[in-house]
Amino acid sequence: MDEASLQVVPISKFPHFDAVVLGAGISGLVAASVLAQQGKHTLVIDDYGHVGGNHMDWTSRDGYTFDVGSLIFQDDSPLLRHFPELLPSYLPIDPTWGRLNPQGRITVYPISVRDDIIAAGPVGLTRIALSVLYARLFCRRMSNARDFARYWIGDYLLQRSGLETYMKRFYGIAPEQIDLDLARKRMGWISEHASIATLFKKVVRPRTAAGPVNRQLARPKEGFASLYDAAVKRLTDAGVSFRLSAGTRAILKINDGFEVSLADGVVVTKRVISTIPIPAAERLCGLPSQSALDTITLISLYFSFAGDRGFSQSIIYNFSHHGAWKRLTVYSDFYGRVNGREYFAVEVIAGSVVSVDQAEEDFRRHTRANGLFDGDLTLEGSQILESAYPIYSKGASQHAAQAIEALKAFGIESIGRQGGFNYQPTARVSTIEVEAALGRN
Ligand SMILES: Cc1cc2nc3c(=O)[nH]c(=O)nc-3n(C[C@H](O)[C@H](O)[C@H](O)COP(=O)(O)OP(=O)(O)OC[C@H]3O[C@@H](n4cnc5c(N)ncnc54)[C@H](O)[C@@H]3O)c2cc1C
Repeated sequence: MDEASLQVVPISKFPHFDAVVLGAGISGLVAASVLAQQGKHTLVIDDYGHVGGNHMDWTSRDGYTFDVGSLIFQDDSPLLRHFPELLPSYLPIDPTWGRLNPQGRITVYPISVRDDIIAAGPVGLTRIALSVLYARLFCRRMSNARDFARYWIGDYLLQRSGLETYMKRFYGIAPEQIDLDLARKRMGWISEHASIATLFKKVVRPRTAAGPVNRQLARPKEGFASLYDAAVKRLTDAGVSFRLSAGTRAILKINDGFEVSLADGVVVTKRVISTIPIPAAERLCGLPSQSALDTITLISLYFSFAGDRGFSQSIIYNFSHHGAWKRLTVYSDFYGRVNGREYFAVEVIAGSVVSVDQAEEDFRRHTRANGLFDGDLTLEGSQILESAYPIYSKGASQHAAQAIEALKAFGIESIGRQGGFNYQPTARVSTIEVEAALGRN
């Protein structure tokens, strides 16, 4: 929602609040909803000109809307308890997921018994079996994400399936450097899929994999603004105020609370809940940065295409050993084609490529080499998002905990994906964690 469409009250008329929420992403909106339910007079501040945080879209010249990353939601999300009016705006979809494996096949995500295991042939199968056996017997001590994955699927399959390469691409660092706790928390699917019982079931009854029990939903065709207009309306009706494009300058501790300086004035509040990146909150409070908390920069490429794309799934993960791109999502499978052209977005982790031009060139080269997108591929646009998600190098969660503790000592409650330096994969998780932090009514 843009500022112009919000009911903007001059700041001099409401200088005192019970709570100020920094950040109008999902965490900020849920925080405002919880606080409003608790009867707190609340102001939401964001330096962005829109509500929704990283739920950011971009519209091409011919009117097609793409996103930085987030797109898929569920009808049983606790977010809908706060904002039930979102539900009818979502588009019900039936997404399918696939992955490009290192052998150049588009196959099952996250692992295929047929293409990753059986297709390895008798020699490969023996190597897989021996390396799993070796790992389960001799690699019980784990100190990083690679150890975790190796324990479950063995060295050989870790490499052959492309999982090791994907982990590096996804987390921005070598799997040996990724925190073990994160692996346990976020990569539990590896142990689930690799348990002997599951593998046995897959071989015996390969077609019985159950789909998700909840309904998958995409944001409205026209983008996030119309979706979150409804959330903002509910919150403003409940007495919450908003300042977007606020130009937040500083947070000063005063006797019974804080003074928050914005580009056009000062507000006074008893409480500050921060959902913005930790270094940004530290700067506002004049606190020394506790540590370098690295984050991923995401380059999103938006393409239109006419021709043979070479796969049927809507979402493809890149598990091959080459190419900087991480995932592609075919929007036109959900929102329809225009003049026969398909539309899709590609997420690229900045690192081996650092600019849009390099990312595009790399994507074109890699997909051509794998027989994908045979036809007319046009780059419609792009976006670059800094602080897209935390890099969980070993020790990063302790550094983040120290920084959050220092902010707490100053009086700031720092929560959410950015404020908690917390890899929250979904809006559902963000909602649950804010509710837990602020105490749901
Ligand atoms: C690539 C990607 C794909 C995702 N896909 C899905 C999906 O399909 N479905 C799903 O449910 N969830 C998805 N998520 C997760 C979901 O987007 C998050 O759980 C949710 O957006 C977190 O909200 P937040 O308010 O904590 O953080 P944010 O949305 O990051 O917002 C926090 C606030 O911090 C500030 N801020 C944000 N980014 C920056 C920045 N780069 N620099 C400075 N300030 C900033 C802004 O003021 C913002 O309002 C995805 C996330 C990413 C990164």
